[in-house]
Amino acid sequence: MVKLAEWRGKEIFRRYGVPIPTGRLVRSVGEAEEAVRAGPIALPLVIKAQVLAGGRGKGGAVKFASTPEELRSVVTGMLGMEFKGETVKELLLEPKVAVGRELYLSIALDRSTREPLLIVSGHGGVEIESLAEEQLVRIPIHPFAGLVAYEKRRVALAFGLEPLASKELAGVLESLWKAFQDEDAELVEVNPLAVVDGHLVALDAKVIIEDDAGFRHPEYAEIRDDRTPLEEIAREKEIAFVQLDGDIGVIANGAGLTMATLDVLAQFGGKPGVFLDLGGTDDPAKVTEAFLLMAKAHPSVVFLNIFGGVTRCDTVAKGLVAAMTQVPESDRFPLVARIRGNNEDLGRAILQSAGITALSDLKASAQAVVAAERPRTAGRAPS
Ligand code: ADP
Ligand code: MG
Repeated sequence: MVKLAEWRGKEIFRRYGVPIPTGRLVRSVGEAEEAVRAGPIALPLVIKAQVLAGGRGKGGAVKFASTPEELRSVVTGMLGMEFKGETVKELLLEPKVAVGRELYLSIALDRSTREPLLIVSGHGGVEIESLAEEQLVRIPIHPFAGLVAYEKRRVALAFGLEPLASKELAGVLESLWKAFQDEDAELVEVNPLAVVDGHLVALDAKVIIEDDAGFRHPEYAEIRDDRTPLEEIAREKEIAFVQLDGDIGVIANGAGLTMATLDVLAQFGGKPGVFLDLGGTDDPAKVTEAFLLMAKAHPSVVFLNIFGGVTRCDTVAKGLVAAMTQVPESDRFPLVARIRGNNEDLGRAILQSAGITALSDLKASAQAVVAAERPRTAGRAPS
C-alpha cells in the first residue's frame, strides 16, 4: 500500500483533469517567502502540513495567513512539528479561496462486492466516518462499463448543483474514475470538493495505490512518505514489519497467525505497537535479525507467538537466544513466549536454558502480555 501525500495526490488529479488550486510545495521559511514574492502564489494563503494522517484542519495542521508576517510565523510553527506521530517536513501553500459548499467524493474497492464503489455526499469537509448513512450515496461502478451517463446525472441531482457545477461534476467523476483505474488505486478521495464562485475545485486529495500493482508503477516504488525509518530498514531486509500506535511488540509466523495475535491482544485490551511476521524460515540468524529490529522499536513488552511448521520452534528459540546476547542494555524488553507445533519440546528446552519459560495457551499468554504492558508516552515508536 502506498499512501500518497496530498500534494502527490493533487499532482495526479491535475494530470487527469480534476481542477485543483495552483499550489507550491515548500520546505523552509525562505522557500515560502520566495514563492509569494516571485509567484506563482499570492496572499492570503492556506498552509497545509503534508502528513499522511487525516483531520489536519481540526488538528492545527491547516492554517491561514493574510500577511507576510503571518506566513512567516505559521510556516515556522508548522515545520518540524509533530502531527499524530509524523514530523512535518513539507508544506503545501495554496491561495485561500472562498469556499461555498463542500462535497465528498471517493472511489474505493469494495471488497464485499468485489467492485469499485463510488461514494458521494453533500456533507463534505468532515471525516466520512462521522457522517450518517443517509448522508451518503453509494453507487457501485461496473468495472467494464465504468460510470454511465445516468449515474453521473444521479450524483449531480443528489447534490442539487447549479447547471454549470453539475456539468463540471460529470467531468470530475470521469477523471477520478480514470485515475482510479490507470494508477491502480485502492482509493481516490476528494474531501472537500468545494464550490468556489460556482466552479468545482478539489481542495484536498487522498490517493492510495495498490501495492500489488507496483510492477506497473515503478514511479511509486521510490515514495517513502508512509514508511517509518524502521519500516524502511525492514523492507530492505525483506522482513514484514509494520508500526502501529500502541506499545506491544508482536512477533509471529505467517500472516494469518500474526493477524490473529493482534486480534487476541485487542480482545484483552492490549494495544499492539509493532508487528513482525517471521514468515517461513529455517535460519536462526534471520530470527535474530528480526528480534534486533524489534528491539529498536522499543516496545514495552514483546509477545512471541509461534506455530512451528516450516519455521520450527527450535529455530526460533535459537535465534531468540542469540539475539538476547546482542541487544544493547537500553533496548531490552520483557518477553512473553508461546510456542506450539514442530519441535516444540526442543524449542522449549532451548528457551528454558536461557531463563525463558514458554507458555502454550494462547489466551493465558495474551493476558500475561497485556498485564506487562506499560504505555509509552509518544505515539509511534522512536527509531
Ligand atoms: P484535512 O482533511 O486533513 O482536515 P483539508 O485539506 O480537507 O485537510 O483541509 C481542511 C479544511 O480546510 C477544508 O475542509 C476546507 O474547508 C479548508 N481549506 C482547505 N484548503 C483551502 C483553501 N485553499 N482555501 C480555503 N479553505 C481551504
Ligand atoms: Mg480533507
